[in-house]
Amino acid sequence: MQDVFNFSAGPATMPKAVLEKAQQELLNWQNLHTSVMEVSHRGEAFMKMVAEAEQNLRKLYHVPDNYKILFLQGGARGQFAAIPMNLLGKNQKALYLTSGHWSKLAAQEARLFANLDEIDLLEQGKDTLQVGQLDFSDIASKYDYVHYCPNETISGVEIFDVPNVGNTVLVADMSSCILSRQIDISKFGMIYAGAQKNLGPSGITLVIIREDLLTQTEQSKIPSIWNYTVQANRDSMINTPPTFAWYLCGLVFEHWLAQGGLPAIEVQNKEKALLLYTYLDESDFYHNNVAVENRSEMNVTFTTGDSELDKCFVAEAQEHGLLALKGHKVQGGMRASIYNAMPLSGVVALVTFMEYFANTHKK
Ligand SMILES: *Cc1c(COP(=O)(O)O)cnc(C)c1O
Repeated sequence: MQDVFNFSAGPATMPKAVLEKAQQELLNWQNLHTSVMEVSHRGEAFMKMVAEAEQNLRKLYHVPDNYKILFLQGGARGQFAAIPMNLLGKNQKALYLTSGHWSKLAAQEARLFANLDEIDLLEQGKDTLQVGQLDFSDIASKYDYVHYCPNETISGVEIFDVPNVGNTVLVADMSSCILSRQIDISKFGMIYAGAQKNLGPSGITLVIIREDLLTQTEQSKIPSIWNYTVQANRDSMINTPPTFAWYLCGLVFEHWLAQGGLPAIEVQNKEKALLLYTYLDESDFYHNNVAVENRSEMNVTFTTGDSELDKCFVAEAQEHGLLALKGHKVQGGMRASIYNAMPLSGVVALVTFMEYFANTHKK
């Protein structure tokens, strides 16, 4: 079989070693002669797996002790609603910093529950997507929290600096950049991510939240599955959790720890992104419209400038074993998602194909 590389933005490619381990353990997990998905989530074996997954994630991501880790359902989008329900307080107002599709959708959903202000981070009147200044320390104290999205998966805009919001709680949708490099978690009140980009399969959502933000009580008028205090008190098991997805996330954490952890992941991610962007800059056939300082290391967008030719690129790439390069429907063009699990060899194969395609389709 030819080597196939899957550039899907999500659900995205998984580390091959993790899939092999899951396959090996599928019919007989922990010597229980059943699969992990057929045992009680409250049983000893599953609870032990969950505790190990949490410990491994704490170690891998250097999660401070005063942060709780929750594994929830409903995807990142569920969190768009849960955040205002849980985090609004004395100001009854939130600030949403927007930089593209997902941050705008987060604000739109939050408006159902919250009074909020929105500030567009993108510089106006530029021909590239560029994020402007990130100092909101003068206005942030009016708000209970400030929300932003450090990596806009669709447009390929990444915000590498952390916004300055003074002492206000900072909340980040890290769905497509979580675990891509070490961050200083103590700068955030809460970070969250749907698992299906960099953590595991879809169906499970990671929330890392500072303990002092669990101010809602068990009696608060928030649906209990969305109440972070309730979920924290019940080990994220107020209802039956997505056990198989949780188990796979645990395998992913174990895998990256064994591979050298975040420092090793970060080196490889930088190398992959540099290779692809360097080629894009040298080429006069393909274009990328993101300012150099905001180019995502996870989602690389490009186009030939001709939508028919772009279609042809995606189809021919697929024949060459390079899958899911079509850009998101709101954006068009191409998008290569090069999350942690994409090996350097996948990006090398992509660049080789891009050169070949440019040579055979030059006008
Ligand atoms: C994929 C994605 C989402 C949506 O995640 P769901 O789990 O499908 O709700 C939200 N935000 C970002 C940044 C994403 O990449």
